[in-house]
Order: sequence, then structure tokens, then C-alpha cells
Amino acid sequence: MSTQPRVDRAEIIAVGTELTDGSKLDTNSQWLSVELAGVGIPVLFHTAVADELEAMVKLFRAAAARSDLVIVSGGLGPTLDDLTRQALADAAGVPLVRHEPSLAGIRELFESRGRVMPERKIVKAMIQEGAITIPNARGTAPGVWFEVGRDKGRLCRFVAVPGVPSELKPMFRDAVLPRLPAGGRVIRQSRIHAFGAGESAIEEKLGDVTARGRQPEVGITAHEATITLRITAVGTTAEECNRQAEETRALIRERLGDLVFGEEDEELQDVVVRRLRDRGETLAIVETPLSGGRMTEWLTAVPGIDDVFRGGLTAVSLDIGIARSQSVAAPHLEENSPARLLAEAYRTAFKATWGLAIVGSRAMDGQTGIGTIAVVGPDCVTTIPYRSFGDPAIDRSRAAKTGLDLLRRRLDRA
Ligand code: ATP
Ligand code: MG
Repeated sequence: MSTQPRVDRAEIIAVGTELTDGSKLDTNSQWLSVELAGVGIPVLFHTAVADELEAMVKLFRAAAARSDLVIVSGGLGPTLDDLTRQALADAAGVPLVRHEPSLAGIRELFESRGRVMPERKIVKAMIQEGAITIPNARGTAPGVWFEVGRDKGRLCRFVAVPGVPSELKPMFRDAVLPRLPAGGRVIRQSRIHAFGAGESAIEEKLGDVTARGRQPEVGITAHEATITLRITAVGTTAEECNRQAEETRALIRERLGDLVFGEEDEELQDVVVRRLRDRGETLAIVETPLSGGRMTEWLTAVPGIDDVFRGGLTAVSLDIGIARSQSVAAPHLEENSPARLLAEAYRTAFKATWGLAIVGSRAMDGQTGIGTIAVVGPDCVTTIPYRSFGDPAIDRSRAAKTGLDLLRRRLDRA
């Protein structure tokens, strides 16, 4: 493989008619760009191209002329519309040749499953003359690393990997990244998540931290009421970036206090489950259309949830035996709120340490709703009112997060 230093200009090509006709979003290019930025390689183009041989050949030629590195995802399968192999060979003017070790590998895989390899699969072992294969531990199609000449004796490196994200990611990290000559600067991104205040309130608390041109730069985005701060550190080494980012993280935590709940891929449910597990405690929940079962959905997706989550109920009507009989007498009293009574009742029924309930309903317009969220623990009760607004699909998530966040804060205090 090439020892030619520096990749100054990279580009990414996503192959597939499903991408250009709008039925699927190209997420591979986004992921690949973040990975490349991490090693200081700037990406100048993202292109999606349909499964059309001529269009692909033209695009590959244009890419070879303008970029030092071209990552191509998709179109490596065995079906007639998978044309990446052929298009790369045509663009470079070389034939496709059979790569015997890959063919043997594919054959073995079929035999180990007690099946005979279909003839068509031979296509997956065809590579451009002069190309090197990139092993694929999770699928049968190997990737290829292929270099073509450019003007002034320079090279353009093509890397083609399958479109399936679960195959592409390990192949890229394990076999492609280590072989890329690093760029001049390193970029590291990290994220901090906050909940419990709006975007502008958080921006105000952060003050100059989000100022443009600050180093490292801090961007702010909101998704279903979770506010995310994205820190982008640029330096000459990863250590330098990490040090800068660490200082900024500490500053953000100091200014936002307990609004911050996690970092990177952490969600509220992950934090709640971790806290409960650390304490050896358990949880039961009750939901209504305000959150629509979303707390249960999220919690049950956290790995190892069985020790922590005892179960719950998603009810549409407030007319659930116990709550009604006790709350009709004096519904205005907080201790009689259905949310509190249900949190308590289900905590007892499921023999859980904590009970969490979001109880309320949405008006006929679907846009407004009102309810109460209650957390009941061994010797404490917290209730807060909940007012829903806006798009119900987003509001259901906001309601579920408000419930989980109330429990998170309660756990941090207790
Ligand atoms: P295979 O050998 O599995 O056929 P392939 O290289 O031919 O792999 P494609 O057929 O292009 O890959 O895509 C396989 C699947 O991977 C698609 O159904 C799609 O779900 C996903 N995929 C392809 N390209 C992308 C992309 N750019 N972003 C996100 N997902 C993608
Ligand atoms: Mg395919």
C-alpha cells in the first residue's frame, strides 16, 4: 500500500439508487466524515450516485482527478445492480481479476453453514487488477484498496467497502484507518447532554463558552428537549485536543450544574439505570398517552435492565381502580393525585424501590395536555405538574424524559 504522505483532500461516494431516489438516507458518509476528521483528513465532497454504470464511471474519474482519497460505500453485493467493482475497473481502465483467497473464504463460509455457494457469489471475489483486499469479518464481500495514477505523478487512493453499516464500520476502523497517512491537524469531537432547561436559557448560562471562534468551539443543538453541546477541538496531536476538550467540559459542567446528565451516547434512561444498579434498587412505572409507553420502551432497551426494571403499566384511561376511588374525594390535594397514588400502588405491586408515574391526558386537538408526574421512593414523594404542547410525537418524548429526569434528580439527592 502507498507510503505517499498526506491526504489533503478526501471525498466520499455513496452508491445506491435507494439513496438518490429518496427512499433511504445516506448515513455512511456522515459517519465516515467524522472518522476522517478525527485523524485530520478533511472531506471536500459527499456524493450519492444511482446504480448506473456510466454515471458511476464518470463520477469515479472526476473524483480521481480532484481527491487524494476516495471512500466508496455500497454496491459491492452479488446482484446485478451492484456495480461498484466494475465501475472502478472501468474508470481506471483495468480488468477485474479473480482473487482466489477471497473465493476460498466465501466458499468455506457457505460450507461451514452446510450450504453450497451459489455461482453468483464468485462476483464478490473479483477485484480490480492491482487492488488489495480489505477483509470483511461480518459479511462475505471483501472491500478493496486501489490506487490510480493522477497528474504530476500523484496517486489517488480508492477504498471501496460494503454499504451495510455494521460491515463498513469495523472494516474501516480496523483495516482502513490504520493505513491512512494522517493529515496535518487532528480534530476531536465530544458531546455533553443536558435536560431541564430550554436552548436559550442554557446558552445564557454558558455565557462566552459558545462564542464563535472560541477554541475549542462549542455548538449547541436541541433534540426532543435534550440539549447537546458539541465540543470541537483542533490541534496537532490527539492529546492536545483531549486536554482542550477536558477543560471545556469542566467549564460547561460548572456552569450548568445538575442540568448535565451525560456524555457521548448516554441517554437519560442509561443514567437512571446505572444509578439504580449502583444502589441495588429497582423501579416500576405507570404511563398514560402523555408519554405513550416511551419510558418503558427506552428502559427495556438498556442492556442488563432485568436487575433494575420490574415492569409497568401503560393505561389510556385514568379510571384505574385504586387511583380513582381514592382521588375522587379531593382531587385537588397533591397527596390524592392519581400520579402519586399510581406510582405508590405499582411500586408496591411490583415490589420495587421506586415508583414513577406520568398521569394525564391530551385534549381532543392532540396538541395540548395536562398531567402530573410523581416519583415515590422508600420515604419520599415528589410530584410536579406536566403541561404538554406542540407536536404530540415530540411531546411524548419530552414527557418521558421529564419523568426520567425527575427520578434522576431524586436519585442524585437521596
Ligand atoms: P451487500 O454485499 O450486503 O449487498 P453492498 O455493498 O452491495 O452490500 P448495498 O447493497 O449497496 O451494499 O447496501 C446494503 C444495505 O446497506 C442497504 O440495504 C442499506 O440498508 C445499507 N446502506 C447502503 N448504503 C448506505 C448508506 N450510504 N447509508 C446508510 N445505509 C446504507
Ligand atoms: Mg447490495
